[in-house]
Amino acid sequence: MIDVYDLAVIGGGPCGIASVVEAKRNGLAHVLLLEKGDNHSQTIRQFYKDKKRVDKEYKGFDSETRGSISFETGTKESVLNYFDELLDSDEIDTNFKSEVEKIEKHADEFYITTSSAGYRARNVIVAIGRMGKPNKPAYKIPPSITQRVNFNLDKCTINEKILVVGGGNSAAEYAIALCKTNVVTLCYRKAKFTRLNETNESDVMRETKYGNIILRLGIDIEALENENGKVLVKFDNGTELVFDRVIYAIGGTSPIDFLKKCGIAYDENGVPIVDENLQTATSGLYVGGDLISRSGGSIVVAINHAHTIIKNIRR
Ligand SMILES: Cc1cc2nc3c(=O)[nH]c(=O)nc-3n(C[C@H](O)[C@H](O)[C@H](O)COP(=O)(O)OP(=O)(O)OC[C@H]3O[C@@H](n4cnc5c(N)ncnc54)[C@H](O)[C@@H]3O)c2cc1C
Repeated sequence: MIDVYDLAVIGGGPCGIASVVEAKRNGLAHVLLLEKGDNHSQTIRQFYKDKKRVDKEYKGFDSETRGSISFETGTKESVLNYFDELLDSDEIDTNFKSEVEKIEKHADEFYITTSSAGYRARNVIVAIGRMGKPNKPAYKIPPSITQRVNFNLDKCTINEKILVVGGGNSAAEYAIALCKTNVVTLCYRKAKFTRLNETNESDVMRETKYGNIILRLGIDIEALENENGKVLVKFDNGTELVFDRVIYAIGGTSPIDFLKKCGIAYDENGVPIVDENLQTATSGLYVGGDLISRSGGSIVVAINHAHTIIKNIRR
């Protein structure tokens, strides 16, 4: 057990993994990764459908990695394997089931607290993403149908009538995957898709043409109700439809309470305030990955954030 780590990284997603690996490769001896899940990459495990194509160029973000860690387009499974290999080969001290509750700085050291342990470090990177709290609709979800209102595909089976809500790549990919074995409607409040990559857009249009996806564009949802155990959806154009399941794919929210406990200032959108090196107002405390982007980033962006931060720590 190390007394004081050179670097502790909170969150074992792409940004956290890239941070610890870059740190090791750049000569930081004692590096610790703390992840709340029972394995790394919980966003990928929980929100990517199985065999999902994972695009290197995503949502028009930068697709070139700048540090020592490369990244190529693959599948959910190949990306998870790749991250396994990165963590194994660089012999990173990794603790799973370690949800960090707060970070405090006393003198030159950070004190990091989980529910069961405490750690000390000279530098800390917070890379906890935004998907710990998926965005929820403003209207109420009746408690009696919460099992049928989901934020990923875990509970989906086959032969269901499913409504997917959202206009981004996640919603499109969910609809495309589900329509092979279910009757799928894709609902987006705007009149047309503006954020889909070419592949997803053409797949959605193809499945719509063949009647496998029913598109409801330019229509919002006003309320959900329980109708005989199913979900009655009331749309703002006055129509009402009943579904076996509704899946929201509308991004994630900033973990404001956590930021407050760590003394990290944030803007009106809950995005942490950092300088060009991704350092907060507290020297040695950095934030990277999706957490510093209002509507989510990409894996390459997260990997590049790690490079920026480690370069600054080594300076
Ligand atoms: C459905 C979907 C499809 C996507 N497809 C693509 C794609 O094809 N290509 C692409 O480049 N990007 C894609 N993305 C975006 C990409 O997944 C994110 O940009 C990337 O995962 C961000 O990495 P991150 O490390 O910042 O955060 P995350 O991946 O969210 O990782 C954060 C980690 O921190 C952990 N954590 C949270 N709170 C704590 C805590 N208090 N203590 C300890 N650990 C904590 C979480 O369990 C998680 O493992 C997709 C996103 C979604 C939701």
